[in-house]
Amino acid sequence: MQYFVGWLLYNANRDIPFLAKSQFYELKTRLLKKYATKVGTDIQHVKKDCCSCDNTGVFKCYWKMPETCWSCFGTGVYKEFWTRLDKYKLGKWYFHNPVERMYKYEPLFEGEALPIIEGYIHHKAPKYRLGKECALWLFLLFDRKSFWKVLGRTGSPTHKRTPLVIIDNAIFVFRHFDWRDYLPKKKPKYDFEYDSDELPF
Ligand SMILES: [Zn+2]
Repeated sequence: MQYFVGWLLYNANRDIPFLAKSQFYELKTRLLKKYATKVGTDIQHVKKDCCSCDNTGVFKCYWKMPETCWSCFGTGVYKEFWTRLDKYKLGKWYFHNPVERMYKYEPLFEGEALPIIEGYIHHKAPKYRLGKECALWLFLLFDRKSFWKVLGRTGSPTHKRTPLVIIDNAIFVFRHFDWRDYLPKKKPKYDFEYDSDELPF
């Protein structure tokens, strides 16, 4: 069971259903707490440079004197935060689950210094629509309400090779089926009557 849930979660996590992002993350947290083993904590550090001043902190333009940048208050940093991520192992896969976001770095020493991950974690989407397929299975098995909410809401134009994605797409197509598209179309007819006196030629 753990291996199976881990496999589903691993694939779904790389291609998160955009219509049910919050439901997915809620489910992910729930499943990790239930099935996975917590193996540690990492700190994720995200720093975004200010683009108004090119992270110099000084705003320059041709029509006025250089001044302290308004966007970043002269710091050159638009946004910076640290997120505490609990690290879990489920099956043979590792997952991160955000616990809290801090806008000032407070070292969390829990016996030893925590490892720091720089920037966002990027996932490569799996082949076909395997991520979507796995997300649908997770919803079907563990969150039936979201399953019915998500099913058939987004079409999958390519790579329909797995059962739930095929069903999902079929429902999507069915929902958007308009029988009027298949009726013979009347050609618009134009009837004009001109009063010969009004014609410009
Ligand atoms: Zn700035």
